[in-house]
Amino acid sequence: MAQSLTLKLDPDTIYPYVCEVEREKDNHTTFFLKSLNILQYRICEELFSDDVNVGEYGLKVLEYGLIGWDNFAWDDVEVIPFDLCNIGTIPYSNQLELFNNIISLSEVDSDLIDEMIYIVKWSDWLSKSKNPDQWTCEYCAEKKLANTRNCDGSRTFSCKSCDAFCSDDVCPKCNGRANLVLKYRFSNKVNDFVTKCPVSLVKTRAIKLVNLVNYIDHTKSLPMVGGALEQSHFYYMARTVVLSEQNSLMKDELDKMKKDVDKKK
Ligand SMILES: [Zn+2]
Ligand SMILES: [Zn+2]
Repeated sequence: MAQSLTLKLDPDTIYPYVCEVEREKDNHTTFFLKSLNILQYRICEELFSDDVNVGEYGLKVLEYGLIGWDNFAWDDVEVIPFDLCNIGTIPYSNQLELFNNIISLSEVDSDLIDEMIYIVKWSDWLSKSKNPDQWTCEYCAEKKLANTRNCDGSRTFSCKSCDAFCSDDVCPKCNGRANLVLKYRFSNKVNDFVTKCPVSLVKTRAIKLVNLVNYIDHTKSLPMVGGALEQSHFYYMARTVVLSEQNSLMKDELDKMKKDVDKKK
């Protein structure tokens, strides 16, 4: 399910959903799902246990996140009206599927988290860069740097012996050692580097979400009407990711500044 990010900030957005086994059927059941708000997510989390069964936790998630269904019938004959008491009539595998979807609507997935952290790091870096223009990817194309900067990710390593490009540090052609074509460091921390043109790694959906979080935070507003706990858990999670990364960068910068001042004394 792909949705607009702004709609995902609204805990009242309704998502129609058809279970996988029914997608080919003409008279399939459509379920209507909602993501969890912060309070609901917390209540559910408290019920969470490592049980294989979804159990109480799962039922609570369905209770909050399943808000209706259309065309649901027992044995395709007897129509079952929407009522949470009737959840037990949904086949267990479908219950699990609905549950998983409600949870994924309520969370920021790990890819998006990585993309957002990258945007925060990269914009922090750019804000200190003496020559930010050199990073526009059009510049790569114009100056014919797209290959040396590995813009498309197809030239991560190059073989020392035969000059072939490969995706691993061992050349598949001659088994020779291959070196990284580009290693661009953000800091001296372990693994704090990229091996592709930094601009080519920027994802627009992550820029959008980081901007939204910053805007909401600077204007001290909330994304939706209602109290803080009534906001979508998705927003809360995105906010936590952005602010904690920004805070840690700021902290590092101030620590470095203090050290430099101490040295001068
Ligand atoms: Zn580039
Ligand atoms: Zn080789």
